[in-house]
Amino acid sequence: MFGKILIANRGEIALRIQRACREMGIRTVVVHSEADRDAKYVKLADESVCIGPPPSALSYLNMPAIISAAEVTDAEAIHPGYGFLSENADFAERVEKSGFVFIGPSPESIRMMGDKVTAKQAMTVAGVPCVPGSEGALPDDPKEIVRIARTVGYPVIIKAAGGGGGRGMRVVHTEAALINAVTMTRAEAASAFGNPTVYIEKFLENPRHIEIQILSDNFRNAVWLGERDCSMQRRHQKIIEEAPAPGIARRLIERIGDRCAEACRKIGYSGAGTFEFLFEGGEFYFIEMNTRVQVEHPVSEMITGLDIVQEQIRIAAGEKLRVRQKDIVLRGHAIECRINAEDPFKFTPSPGRITAWHTPGGPGIRVDSHAYSGYVVPSYYDSMVGKLIAYGADRDQAIARMRIALSEMVVEGIQTNIPLHRELMADARFVEGGTSIHYLEKRMADRKT
Ligand code: ADP
Repeated sequence: MFGKILIANRGEIALRIQRACREMGIRTVVVHSEADRDAKYVKLADESVCIGPPPSALSYLNMPAIISAAEVTDAEAIHPGYGFLSENADFAERVEKSGFVFIGPSPESIRMMGDKVTAKQAMTVAGVPCVPGSEGALPDDPKEIVRIARTVGYPVIIKAAGGGGGRGMRVVHTEAALINAVTMTRAEAASAFGNPTVYIEKFLENPRHIEIQILSDNFRNAVWLGERDCSMQRRHQKIIEEAPAPGIARRLIERIGDRCAEACRKIGYSGAGTFEFLFEGGEFYFIEMNTRVQVEHPVSEMITGLDIVQEQIRIAAGEKLRVRQKDIVLRGHAIECRINAEDPFKFTPSPGRITAWHTPGGPGIRVDSHAYSGYVVPSYYDSMVGKLIAYGADRDQAIARMRIALSEMVVEGIQTNIPLHRELMADARFVEGGTSIHYLEKRMADRKT
């Protein structure tokens, strides 16, 4: 096992990784920008290195600075967390070339999954169902594009192969709008992702977002840790996640879970990962794979009893998975609310000093957060300040505990989305379960009128 790990991230996930390491007796180095100098996890780390000024491009995305920090501190491995460099194949490659272990899959796997066209092709070969669409990248010939869209059937969605974070997509309802939409998406993709490749998919009108968490070692052993329902989204970003997904037959989930684990064995995937699907009319359609730990990983941890971050570390250290599929037993229900520093109904960011911070507790409550009274939420990064996770024997108990937790939680000095979460935990449709990815946006629109 590693003696020392460098954490190349910030915020709650930096603290989460640090806790995993400390429990395993691994020393930690945390890198931070000038804006994060006073962060709690920086003080708790065995060592810390300032890698640059506040903007991410000069610090958390600064590959040479991070690798130098690993060199001067004699770290053996680098955990990239989520976001920033976590899905950057060039970074993974540079980490390895510099003699460190990248805690994540191989650069080849990251590259394959980072390009949505090659990812979809690999999944089709591995027997994972995908959204119907073009076979690979769209050709240049407009006639050919029109023919492909007709075969797929309107509405269609044009998507950039290199897209991410909900950007690089355009929905097209009629043939008249098709070529213009393709041209515009190509131009945007070229400037935003440096890759003009686009493809077409059938646009699913009312799907749910269901994803499968997997763990796979270097010896082609793979297991799946149940599913998560992440349909409650604002601006294509998840705000509530839960496991298991309410109202879907177990045999459907088991079939797709087994396919995902099998796909990992086939492509020689190593590490933790998530297969994201849209679920509509009883069918799963693969949209993309995330090759890193996810924000919502705690809900899977709560229902499986496994520590996903520690498993990532063990896999990267070359250990064999200690569990087989039959050992994975899903128990109870878990819900996560992402606490963001933002206006709860307009979603505008609300950085600044937190003057009061009281977190809830009691049976089944977990709080993953780096924030505290007096902490200043920087304006440079993502607005998430923590995650509230409630576990119960069943979904009703998890919701009841989440309601109490949200009523106990006090954050002053900044705005947070806690009022929105309080509304949603009392929302009849959420309580019923199974809302689609458009539910929250429609609800917000109705709220205004
Ligand atoms: P990103 O990498 O930007 O997150 P995804 O491929 O995961 O891109 O898609 C993000 C979101 O866009 C999905 O969660 C869904 O809301 C919407 N979306 C993507 N593809 C489709 C589709 N074929 N039909 C309907 N909605 C889609």
